Amino acid sequence: MSNECSCSEIVLLMGPPGAGKGTQADILVNSRVLRKLSTGDMLRDHVKRDTDLGKKAKVIMDAGNLVSDDLIVAMVRSELESMQIIRLLLDGFPRTTAQAIALDKLLEEMSTDISSTILIEVDEEELISRLLNRATELGRSDDNEEVIRNRMKVYHELTKPLIEYYQGQNKLVSINGSGTVEEVAKTISEVLA
Ligand code: ADP
Repeated sequence: MSNECSCSEIVLLMGPPGAGKGTQADILVNSRVLRKLSTGDMLRDHVKRDTDLGKKAKVIMDAGNLVSDDLIVAMVRSELESMQIIRLLLDGFPRTTAQAIALDKLLEEMSTDISSTILIEVDEEELISRLLNRATELGRSDDNEEVIRNRMKVYHELTKPLIEYYQGQNKLVSINGSGTVEEVAKTISEVLA
């Protein structure tokens, strides 16, 4: 008899811009052997390679707005279809209710489901100061104050409704994201244990 299991695991990290999703995602992919799927990173890669999608996305990203659901879902679909075993850490996706519904459908087609959704909470002034610091350190073109405020607004309007969506599915755990990177990582690993 085979001891193999499908061992699918899908962890979703949610939270406002600056909450530390990317940092925690990098820690989790190592500790739980997951593949990180960051739609932000995928889009920045398109921008860097100057693809057609990258050209379209750059203008939208630089203004702090969201790239269309259709483009994002198509990008995620092709990534998921290339995976044999779905062990995923989702960072920055889904970001709208339409994306969440599309993801649920996609995972159902693949006979799998989200394992856990973690919401990293940090108060807004702290977020803005973190993002302004990152702007100085990394020089990301969507990290100036006006664009940051727009990204916060977009988060409140379009992404926050997902909290209720996942609460309704009994899948959401909120954690305090204002500690050090190590403290937050420890809390997340306790939640997932
Ligand atoms: P943050 O650092 O704010 O979490 P990301 O690196 O995830 O930001 O994303 C940067 C930008 O890329 C977003 O402001 C948006 O324009 C675009 N983007 C990333 N993921 C998505 C998505 N799932 N849907 C639509 N747009 C997205």
